[in-house]
Amino acid sequence: MSRFGNTGRAFGAIVALALCVFVQSAVAAVPVVTRFRSPKNADRPVRKGTSLIVLHTTEAPAKGSLRHLSERGECHYCVTEDGTVYQIVDRHRVAFHAGTSMWNGKTNVDNFSVGIECVGYHDKAMPMAQIKSIRALVKELQGLYKLSDDKVVTHSMVAYSEPNKWHKKKCRGRKRCGMLFAMPSVRAALGLKKRAAFDPDVKAKRLVVGDDTLLPQVLYGKRDTMRKAYGTAQVAALPKKPLPPPKGGAAPAVRPSVPVPAPAFRKIPQSIPELKAQGFVSVGSVAKKNLPINIVGAKWNSPDTYYTIRGRVIAGNILDPYHVEEGMNVWVKK
Ligand SMILES: [Zn+2]
Repeated sequence: MSRFGNTGRAFGAIVALALCVFVQSAVAAVPVVTRFRSPKNADRPVRKGTSLIVLHTTEAPAKGSLRHLSERGECHYCVTEDGTVYQIVDRHRVAFHAGTSMWNGKTNVDNFSVGIECVGYHDKAMPMAQIKSIRALVKELQGLYKLSDDKVVTHSMVAYSEPNKWHKKKCRGRKRCGMLFAMPSVRAALGLKKRAAFDPDVKAKRLVVGDDTLLPQVLYGKRDTMRKAYGTAQVAALPKKPLPPPKGGAAPAVRPSVPVPAPAFRKIPQSIPELKAQGFVSVGSVAKKNLPINIVGAKWNSPDTYYTIRGRVIAGNILDPYHVEEGMNVWVKK
């Protein structure tokens, strides 16, 4: 969702406003802010069961993400960089967060899961304040729904593609969303000991793997493979040792007394002039016989490849194969 503008100053204002409307949810230990509660709430059916917690990354700054998630009712909670937990959709109702999805043979994961959006990127470290809040929220939900650690999954684990022009079969690898939450080091920071050991739908041959290297390595590999793939920045902000368990399910520190500095995310270009300023050049235009893979090969879905169409800039790692259009310009660094 790289189309959203910068948060910067506006985000500070949102936090300040939000602090004024803190409410303690009825059962929960984790305080939530309801300023962005979705207008879709009342329309959403009550979920029949809850067997998964799905973690997402917004791939965009907080301000635009909160607005967008709220308007469309696309998650139950959104956790921002300073550790504030926003409630978007009531947790017992269905939120539309997982899209085309399957886990263990059951499709439409929205119908049996809670979705948590975390402001940030699937391949970037998150500030400790945010990790602590995600940890407390996950723990609370695990307790409420009696879910073991391996039932806490990432969107990338459950998303799949229907057959398309690249893959003739239904395949895993449609999204990289939330991938960092599969990394052993990040899970340790979240206090999660167990992780799904394999992809049940790939194992049962219901799906094939569409992203053949990075995805299975990161989601099911033993080590922090993504650290290798993306450099060391990813885990720099995480502690070497797991955090001590929270005392009596204590609420996370969501009221920072000092302003939290913005995390050092790379600056994502938002316009063609910004792409040019960062040294990107257009290397081709997408057409029926000139698909992204023909233009830039395996880098078609790299975070360092960008696509532009009608003024929008979309990073390759966010590009959904369904949304590839003729006339899209492809940009890479010179
Ligand atoms: Zn997602």
